[in-house]
Amino acid sequence: MQADSLPSYSKPSLAPAASVILIIDDNPKSIKALSLLVRDFGEVLFATSGAAGIAMAMKSKPDLILLDVEMPGMNGYEVCRQLKADLSTRGSGIIIVTSHSSVEHEVEALEAGAADFITKPLNAPLVRARVKTQLLVKKQADALQRLAEQDGLTGIYNRRYFDEQVAQEWRRHQRQRSPLGLALVDVDYFKAYNDEYGHQDGDECLRSVAQCLTLALRRPGEQVARYGGEEFVIILPYTDNVELLKIGPWLCEQVRNLKIPHAKSAVAQWVTISAGLASGIPSIQSGPDHLLGLADKALYQAKANGRNQFVVAEKNLE
Ligand code: GH3
Ligand code: MG
Ligand code: MG
Ligand code: MG
Repeated sequence: MQADSLPSYSKPSLAPAASVILIIDDNPKSIKALSLLVRDFGEVLFATSGAAGIAMAMKSKPDLILLDVEMPGMNGYEVCRQLKADLSTRGSGIIIVTSHSSVEHEVEALEAGAADFITKPLNAPLVRARVKTQLLVKKQADALQRLAEQDGLTGIYNRRYFDEQVAQEWRRHQRQRSPLGLALVDVDYFKAYNDEYGHQDGDECLRSVAQCLTLALRRPGEQVARYGGEEFVIILPYTDNVELLKIGPWLCEQVRNLKIPHAKSAVAQWVTISAGLASGIPSIQSGPDHLLGLADKALYQAKANGRNQFVVAEKNLE
């Protein structure tokens, strides 16, 4: 398959991005005042109602939300509760901004899930100090999250992250009745590679293969993780068997093209992979293990057929 025949996309980055702050307030003057105070911390977005604020938070995943309480329609506490109840927005820190400075209001804000509380009229140094603290807290939480999702050796996603993602994708594809694809990739004769070149070079080889597979992905939502040892797994959203027949050879070719010498391989002079691919529309009765099982059988077949090749599972999920 030609690289230019694939739709391009930007690879999801594991590096931390610049801060995004969302101000939700029905009063444009308040938005302006707050925005002037915090704009040098990052990008500032705003919304003038609770509903618009929630929609924007879902879309732009801000690091921090400055949330007014007194708004027509949904008040700030309710907006806060909704943001904290939704998986896609609960990661944003929230500071409640209100003209009611009482213990009861502060407690209500914290109970609604806010991280902190600011009172109007705004005190500039206090606002900046509280915002700065919450942005720092968010950065640390993000860094911890990345560590928890990352494989220590290769820097790509780990098995735990894959398990969560594939479960989520399974449910999404089930709802949408769309085919979900998986690819299991295993380095050929890797024990012999370690024996020949040493464990450290073996580690370096795994890093190269991991990076190569990551760069080989072409479509949004595709994700590669280290499944364990010298095995990798790729989630391929909205991918049927016809697509898999193109992706299989593409993956094998990309790794072969790294041209990492492997004198003890029985199939090539370079490091090669075998891949097992499977796809299907998820059913309610089964889970992602079913699809993994099919991919694993296909991988076993690719190995048995002589390695340095791919097999697409013929049986779909049913
Ligand atoms: P096959 O072609 O059938 O896949 O043979 P293989 O030798 O690749 O498979 P086998 O399962 O026999 O050996 C896998 C090897 O991968 C053995 C193990 O030491 C090595 N391995 C697993 N994890 C790591 C790692 O993190 N670093 C290094 N250097 N080697 C690893
Ligand atoms: Mg207001
Ligand atoms: Mg293996
Ligand atoms: Mg192997």
